[in-house]
Amino acid sequence: MRVLIISDIHANLAAFEAVLADAKGEWDTIWCLGDLVGYGPDPNECVALLREHDHISLSGNHDWAVLGKLDTDNFNREAQIAIRWTRQAISRETHDYLEKLPPQLEQAPFSLVHASPRHPVWEYILDAYTAAINFDYFETPYCLVGHTHVPVIYSELESQSVQILPPEYDTAFQLERARLIINPGSVGQPRDSDPRAAYAFLDTEKLTFEYKRVEYPVKVTQDRMRQYGIPTRLIRRLEYGW
Ligand code: ZN
Repeated sequence: MRVLIISDIHANLAAFEAVLADAKGEWDTIWCLGDLVGYGPDPNECVALLREHDHISLSGNHDWAVLGKLDTDNFNREAQIAIRWTRQAISRETHDYLEKLPPQLEQAPFSLVHASPRHPVWEYILDAYTAAINFDYFETPYCLVGHTHVPVIYSELESQSVQILPPEYDTAFQLERARLIINPGSVGQPRDSDPRAAYAFLDTEKLTFEYKRVEYPVKVTQDRMRQYGIPTRLIRRLEYGW
């Protein structure tokens, strides 16, 4: 089975549409790692578009915050404003759909979590040390995570240390070499200094993972954010990818 792996769409419809157009015909199902909403201007449209396709999805910290399941005190000021805007923007249908999503799932030999195996909704795996600890918190050979918006693979070495593998685009990476924590990056708000939408293909038979990037009309999303009074900092960051 060929799986389209996406994460952190963050209500950025132009980015999500560009990913689906770029990946068209190349996959059988979608695995979405959470944070469908928050930050961006099109929460209902993004949820509706995901639901048009065969898929499974996790919920992320922004989804939980919008639903009131997570205290927003730990979010920065702009993110809090975006969450308040999203709360009043989402339809009952979107709300009910998000409410049903779990923060983690298992699709053997893959564990799927939004943030980290240790703290599925909140912890950021941004370094080898945090990754090394997290290998003890899942049973399967591989774990897919989102949340940091940075594409990367952490590979567990025998000495309980971790090797950081940066993404190689348009190349099938063979998984069967070690236990891995794999982050596909973010569709709707990349933070690795590359503003293009990030996604990946997973082939569950060949056990390969292929990183992809695609440009999207950033200005379309920015104009809609401006129209809704979403904070300027959140608008500007999209064109730089930070
Ligand atoms: Zn996110």
